[in-house]
Amino acid sequence: MRKWLFCLVPFFSSAGAQVDSAFFKKVFDEALLNGHAYARLGELCKTIGPRLSGSLEAEKAVQWGKTMLGTYGFDSVYLQPVMVPKWERGAQEGLWFSSKTFSRSIRSKKPVDYNCEAFESRPLKPSGKYQIPGVALGGSVGTNGMLKAGLVSIHKDIELDSLGKLGLLKGKVVLLNRPFPEQYLNTFKAYGACVGQRVNGASKAAMYGAVAVLVRSMSNRCDLHPHTGVMIYDEKQPKIPAMAVATAVANLLDRLATEDSGLQVHLQLNCKMYPDVMSANVIAQHKGNAFPERIIAFGGHFDSWDQGEGAHDDGAGCMHAFEALRLLKQIGYKPRHTLRCVWWMNEENGLRGATEYAKIAGANKEIHVAALESDRGGFTPRGFGVDSVFLANLENYRNLLNSYGIGDIEKGGGGADIGPLKKYFPGAVFVGFIPDSQRYFDVHHAETDVFENVNKRELHLGAAAVAVMIAILDQQLD
Ligand SMILES: [Zn+2]
Repeated sequence: MRKWLFCLVPFFSSAGAQVDSAFFKKVFDEALLNGHAYARLGELCKTIGPRLSGSLEAEKAVQWGKTMLGTYGFDSVYLQPVMVPKWERGAQEGLWFSSKTFSRSIRSKKPVDYNCEAFESRPLKPSGKYQIPGVALGGSVGTNGMLKAGLVSIHKDIELDSLGKLGLLKGKVVLLNRPFPEQYLNTFKAYGACVGQRVNGASKAAMYGAVAVLVRSMSNRCDLHPHTGVMIYDEKQPKIPAMAVATAVANLLDRLATEDSGLQVHLQLNCKMYPDVMSANVIAQHKGNAFPERIIAFGGHFDSWDQGEGAHDDGAGCMHAFEALRLLKQIGYKPRHTLRCVWWMNEENGLRGATEYAKIAGANKEIHVAALESDRGGFTPRGFGVDSVFLANLENYRNLLNSYGIGDIEKGGGGADIGPLKKYFPGAVFVGFIPDSQRYFDVHHAETDVFENVNKRELHLGAAAVAVMIAILDQQLD
């Protein structure tokens, strides 16, 4: 389905002549026949792996990125220093449940997903202590030894308040268990509906005397992989430990909590926050011919969580941007503006890289005419979210975009990393790259976000889509 929210006949500058059907074909042919993004992403994921801000791996990745980009003959490649937070998981955390009255009869009567069947049908002894998958949320405090308490499962924010006011959360571990609304076609909308319980849930539960929270993983999929992600404490409340639990585990604990009064959960988290450390944004650029002082920035975030390899989130977005710059250079495109690929550091737990980038750009009067972000994974490209002021300019390219399957244009462009630029360059055009969303939250922030789960053709199609959109912006803007 194509979504065209505009029907104006736009002004079409003669400068647009470089970007036609032959240009699209050259870009896509080069990406599909000779793409570099997949191989470079493989190096990043397999030689370095996850790149949590402030970690040794993030530092290695920065050096790798600078060296790798330096081999492509771009006009300049440089690092932009930035201080970032450093949070460490510490020794592997653990989560268990135990119950004296537990029996197999509490198993789900509903059909369970295939992924969960092995877990659901596992033989369970009546008085055992069972380890279940869980990982600390980013930013959580540790438990300072083993923490053991009864569990209360919450499905809506309103229950948290009603049970809390009755004093029923005091001394308990609270399971924040609101699932993704499956009826939403766009999984990012489902994420938006639930992510608040991960980010702010610990402090809300602490306000009612809870001693820890378990948070249902932000995923559509029923499986045994916990998904981490940032959580933020309200300084006015006690800081209690926060842990993500796999969706299948959340389902099981939910039933246990209602049917088994003897249920206890045991958790041990060893995480800790350290002083900030120096890191860097990684930047490569090509100088423009007509307006070298005017910049089109595009990129993704280079940091990742410490689970998996940060392959889709956001190694893919970084590779889209690098490959777009390479593709345009390779086919001999002469940019009018300076094209700048940016790998922002620390999107996941601080946004320091993007904030610093925008601040420096503003202070140095590096005029940004447009910014594009790719942070939705390396899946099949569908289109773009675009600021409404630029929609009419895309009308000329409607047929071409449609013929390459990237014609789903939504009003409203942006992303976390390009957001801070709006303050300094409110007149710039902001664009978000939009790939298919159905599988993103299968792997997002989980141990399954690995290179093997990235498809080469999908990644390269995404890079080509970013390249043609950058060229369109370059042609249509002054
Ligand atoms: Zn991301």
